[in-house]
Amino acid sequence: MKRVKINKIIKFSNVDGPGNRMSIFFQGCNYNCLYCHNPETINICNNCALCVEGCPVGALKLVDSKVLWDEKVCIECDHCIELCDRNSTPKTRDVSIEELVEEIKKVSKFIRGITVSGGEATLYYEFITKLFVEVKKLGLTTFVDTNGGVDLSKERYRKFLEVTDKFMLDVKVWDGNTHKYLVENENKNVIKNLKFLGESGKLYEVRTVIVPKILDNMETVDKVSEIIGDINSKNKVENIMYKIIKYRKIGVRKEILKKELLNIETPTDEDLKEILEVLEKNRVEKFIII
Ligand code: SF4
Ligand code: SF4
Repeated sequence: MKRVKINKIIKFSNVDGPGNRMSIFFQGCNYNCLYCHNPETINICNNCALCVEGCPVGALKLVDSKVLWDEKVCIECDHCIELCDRNSTPKTRDVSIEELVEEIKKVSKFIRGITVSGGEATLYYEFITKLFVEVKKLGLTTFVDTNGGVDLSKERYRKFLEVTDKFMLDVKVWDGNTHKYLVENENKNVIKNLKFLGESGKLYEVRTVIVPKILDNMETVDKVSEIIGDINSKNKVENIMYKIIKYRKIGVRKEILKKELLNIETPTDEDLKEILEVLEKNRVEKFIII
């Protein structure tokens, strides 16, 4: 895997792990979440060219059956993303490790580390392993933001884990059937990763989005916080953070909102009172509600 598709790079981010970090978003995901807030990262573009004519400034061209995007001409109106009917975008870049390292070097003095995200970054674990070896040489920390869909305890991920300082894991819902309905994939690996990464001291943060009405949020928070509280109580290093995120419909796909299913309001602080009680019961001291 010499080159991979990336969706974007945020040079300075303070929401993707500790300190100031460069975040690299890979294109392509193994989940298809109903409430995905960046659905254009789910699939790789199939060059159907549906979006090309819709570009108001001619930044897209079909050349030899491939859709090419001219970053310099693009005005970031995102009309192409609205036109795309397969949750993709023509606005990706094929990058090599060497090219990424050069970009990282330019800002390395101003950041604490690199976070890879997506899409789903673990799908590119071989590429990221090599990238992180180089990132470590620059004295930077390495974080992975993941949906937990692949079993990271497998031997093939050993080197990847060695060069990754910490993971940030989404646990969307505890019940397996609801998880399948929500993301079109089961959650056995997610729960396995929660325990495995936690007990290995590799887990920085766990995140759950609170979606009223359609998810059993209390069950998820109870089960997850029980595991986090248990690991934290035995842990001699840094405690795992539990980030509780209130569902927001801004950014959710229009076709999903049309189905009314997720056309629901953001939970209030009052709605989350019971969640706070559960966190306290399960001895989770390090948490944030956003
Ligand atoms: S985001 Fe860029 S490429 Fe897409 S339609 Fe707008 S100008 Fe064209
Ligand atoms: S971004 Fe979507 S609409 Fe545009 S060429 Fe790719 S798959 Fe087709």
